[in-house]
Amino acid sequence: MYSPSTLAGNRLFVYEVAGLNQNDNTDSLDYSIRQSGSVFFTVPYSRMNQEMRRITRLGGRIVSIKPFNGIAPVATVSSASTPQPIAQSSPVPEQTKKKAMTQAKEKTDIPVNIYRPNQPFIGKCIENYALVDEGGIGIVQHVTFDLSGSDLRYLEGQSIGIIPPGTDANGKPHKLRLYSIASTRHGDKLDDKTVSLCVRQLEYQHPETKETVYGVCSTHLCNVEVGADVAITGPVGKEMLLPGDEDATIIMMATGTGIAPFRAFLWRMFKEQHEDYKFKGLAWLIFGVPKTANILYQEELEKIAAEFPDNFRLTYAISREQQNPQGGRMYIQHRVAEHADEIWNLLQSPKTHAYMCGLKGMEDGIDDAISGAAAKNGADWSVYQKQLKKEHRWHVETY
Ligand SMILES: Cc1cc2nc3c(=O)[nH]c(=O)nc-3n(C[C@H](O)[C@H](O)[C@H](O)COP(=O)(O)OP(=O)(O)OC[C@H]3O[C@@H](n4cnc5c(N)ncnc54)[C@H](O)[C@@H]3O)c2cc1C
Repeated sequence: MYSPSTLAGNRLFVYEVAGLNQNDNTDSLDYSIRQSGSVFFTVPYSRMNQEMRRITRLGGRIVSIKPFNGIAPVATVSSASTPQPIAQSSPVPEQTKKKAMTQAKEKTDIPVNIYRPNQPFIGKCIENYALVDEGGIGIVQHVTFDLSGSDLRYLEGQSIGIIPPGTDANGKPHKLRLYSIASTRHGDKLDDKTVSLCVRQLEYQHPETKETVYGVCSTHLCNVEVGADVAITGPVGKEMLLPGDEDATIIMMATGTGIAPFRAFLWRMFKEQHEDYKFKGLAWLIFGVPKTANILYQEELEKIAAEFPDNFRLTYAISREQQNPQGGRMYIQHRVAEHADEIWNLLQSPKTHAYMCGLKGMEDGIDDAISGAAAKNGADWSVYQKQLKKEHRWHVETY
């Protein structure tokens, strides 16, 4: 299996910085430390934003950012002091920079079933890494497939089908399983040529034999090796699409791998640059997991929250570590109940969309939680929710 430490996480970049304030010792010197006036820092990819903020704080100006072994700069920063968010200054592939990421056309053109089960696209796995930290429960992997040579394209919020190899108990080829897409339409490499999934290995005890049973497709995906072929169908789904409105309020309620479509939303909102989609609204993720070690994509989520405090709110419900007001485990519905009045108020705006994704069991608890706030305002939640669904503002994908 592919190592959990990602290539991106290990990449190093050299920052050339001019105009840095020096320390007490060097400030007293009457000559510059380097003749060019620049200083150079080697920074891992994961710390790029932090380093940019530090440089700005010190009054520095980033002249260029090059890969550690780089020849050409991957970014040249012309503005004197404004730190650029990582999506702007990270090494965006050349073809992506040239290609405008238009949304208007794609909005009206929802791709579906480009590849059908009788003729799936065979993509190669190019990345497979663990998302659950040590001490966490179960196995969840982030898996990426190369779509080069295919016509497969998709939008945030859609799913793809995966056909596991081999045959079922009746000797018939396995049926496809659906997985929510965890990458934006541009893919994790921003070259429009990959698709990523967030897959939990299904594991349960056989009700009669009590033997441990592992799910066929989820086990196949969690163990797929880099370079291996995978049969892909789709895309499918129109329920979980993200509105094009840049001022929208997007409430996202996820449990476990239900984070997948929201990762795509958040990457589109905050990590990518688009000509015609510059998110200025409010995105609020309420994320339920059993333990801190199970917070999928934790580092990236918290980085977005730190960088965009006015536009992104991150709320966890960590069931085995936090308590609800009654002293029991803190599940997502308890967090929703805690914020129900606020959610209710937000839902009054036509610009608000609420999304729910993950375990099937989460729906009733969330309905109960919001119905209390609705009742306080003299409304019947089931009636109101129907209206929201009609307006395509209440989106549910549970499995
Ligand atoms: C729209 C959609 C999106 C989805 N997105 C994702 C995603 O992003 N990530 C993800 O990991 N999954 C996702 N799923 C679930 C995924 O499609 C598969 O259902 C899941 O991976 C299990 O498939 P499998 O082949 O591993 O299990 P299978 O081998 O097909 O086993 C599943 C079967 O095992 C039995 N079973 C399961 N649990 C128990 C139990 N506790 N006791 C007794 N029997 C049991 C049931 O008969 C069940 O039908 C999604 C599903 C849908 C419909």
